[in-house]
Amino acid sequence: MRIGDVRLLTLVVALACSTIATAANAQARTDRFGDGPLRTLRPGSFVVQKQTVPVDLVFIGYDSRQIDERALLASLPATYSPIVRYPQFYGLNGRDMGLEFQFKYRAVHETRAFTDQFFSFLARTGTDGPLTAFQDQYNQQQKNVLDVAGPVLYIDAPTVERYLATHGFGDQRGYTIYFINWYGRRDFRFHVYTKTDEVDPDTGYNFGSLRGSRKMIAWGGSVSRTWFYDLSAGPESWTNNWSVDDDQTEYHMPPIWEYRTGGYRPAARLTRDLGLVTRYVGIDLLFTTSPLYDPLVTAPDVGGSKVVHVGMLEDDPASNGRTFIDTEFTKRELRRFEPYYSWKVGLSDTKPVDAGAKRTLDIFSGNLLADDCWNAFGTPFAQMFCYFSANLAKYIPEYRPRDYVGEIFAYNTTAANLGDQFGLLGFADDNWVDGTQTHVFMFDSNEYRALGYGFTTTGIHEFGHHIGMSHPHDGYDSENDLEFDASGPFEFAWSGDESHTVMHYIALANGFGVFDRDNQYRWETAGYLNWSNAVLGDIVTHPKARQVWPLIRQADDAAADAVEAFRRWDYLEGVAKARLAYSEVALAAQLIGASTPTLDAARRALPGTAVRRIVCTIRNPYD
Ligand SMILES: [Zn+2]
Repeated sequence: MRIGDVRLLTLVVALACSTIATAANAQARTDRFGDGPLRTLRPGSFVVQKQTVPVDLVFIGYDSRQIDERALLASLPATYSPIVRYPQFYGLNGRDMGLEFQFKYRAVHETRAFTDQFFSFLARTGTDGPLTAFQDQYNQQQKNVLDVAGPVLYIDAPTVERYLATHGFGDQRGYTIYFINWYGRRDFRFHVYTKTDEVDPDTGYNFGSLRGSRKMIAWGGSVSRTWFYDLSAGPESWTNNWSVDDDQTEYHMPPIWEYRTGGYRPAARLTRDLGLVTRYVGIDLLFTTSPLYDPLVTAPDVGGSKVVHVGMLEDDPASNGRTFIDTEFTKRELRRFEPYYSWKVGLSDTKPVDAGAKRTLDIFSGNLLADDCWNAFGTPFAQMFCYFSANLAKYIPEYRPRDYVGEIFAYNTTAANLGDQFGLLGFADDNWVDGTQTHVFMFDSNEYRALGYGFTTTGIHEFGHHIGMSHPHDGYDSENDLEFDASGPFEFAWSGDESHTVMHYIALANGFGVFDRDNQYRWETAGYLNWSNAVLGDIVTHPKARQVWPLIRQADDAAADAVEAFRRWDYLEGVAKARLAYSEVALAAQLIGASTPTLDAARRALPGTAVRRIVCTIRNPYD
């Protein structure tokens, strides 16, 4: 962190504090076995972990008259409580996440000296190149207020993130958005941001180098809790910000020079737009997000592993799907993300695809109009779910009972055999009853591989959904109780994809980033502590509770460590200790044969209705 003279006046050390709001369970806290009350665990109680989350909005190159800071801050939420999203599509509440964030905002204008240094750094670190296809398209618009002139600077996005994280304003225990505006200065250069350091592990395809649609205006989350957003970059493809002749029903932010009289948007709307980006992208999609599925559903039992089993189905005689998946790579990325589990990735190959799986693909793709198990759900889209649920053992070998096994059914097929579903890379399906995750499906073909896509990154992405993660372009706004995706009034939310995560569509990162880790670890920390409390509530009423009390004391110590680590934003340590606490409590319950009705109730299925489904498709396949 850089501490400048001006900012010393405004620098308030934002302590990340968390408190436990609990209905004090007086009976549970009493000294049960004469060795003092428990420190952290609350048998039978539900505890909400609260955390103050500093969010700094730092303006670089913006004139203070361009932004109405007060109005911007007033548009932001005071709190965020994550929910499990998928059950909401059925009108159901998922498991209570037990988390509440309170935001503490600051709006800061960078000093003149820093601003000069920063733009000089951009000019130095970038390299000259031709206009991108989308800068060209912008120039060809009828209403554009200027023409982008080359050569333009290509600037490595992670390098800029690192620069800001090292030299900038942000607090390590909090998030920072840098709003950058180079335009209007004498040293201004037209520019785009790139990320070219990760290629597709199966095809070697470098989306960052080869695609005009991957030349960006924002980035963050590679190595820091920083995200920058530069409306003086581009114009770009990903948020359609090159498009200025449209009627604005798809709401995106134009380049900064279009905020003027006669431009795409009035200057007075800039404040509101940056507020929208802060709220619906920064907060809702990057910093404090909601999981698509409950991560704890994928928790292995005590001593068990998390298993990914890929059932490869070879539906193309001309190619071999097995050569386009790297199970070691998959395991490495998942272990990096959740190192507190033991991971296994297995694969079995059905070559050629058997009749049942083939018929299922044909129905799913619309190539075969036939009745089957999908009729019970009203759409052929359910065929994959119902067929593989009924025939699981045929494709997936037995693992140990204490392991959690997630299945990925992988069709190595052709464009023709994908029929109506061509363009679909995969989806992490639910149980069609209450929004609990079930099997994962993915698709690859020579046609997809020609576009750059192997199986491996799709598998990591889809399994990422399966263990909880949402896309960084669709999500939930807590205070407005609003589910949204990047279309209509929220088209600008595509800019969330310009961040480090395999969960984006822009294909510039093969693994999980800083924002993913923060969110997943916090969800699981709060979740494991509440699971521990739930099981412990059943243990304390058991006649043999005394026998396992030493183990409960250990679990309580681990839980205390977890909360302490959570409070100082060491989320990895927090989740590892919370998982340990839960493992010890669960082991104690097993040892004395205590049943766990509280947990069992949380796992009971509920009646279903028709729902919206999230599928993962190729975006901008050809440019
Ligand atoms: Zn997806």
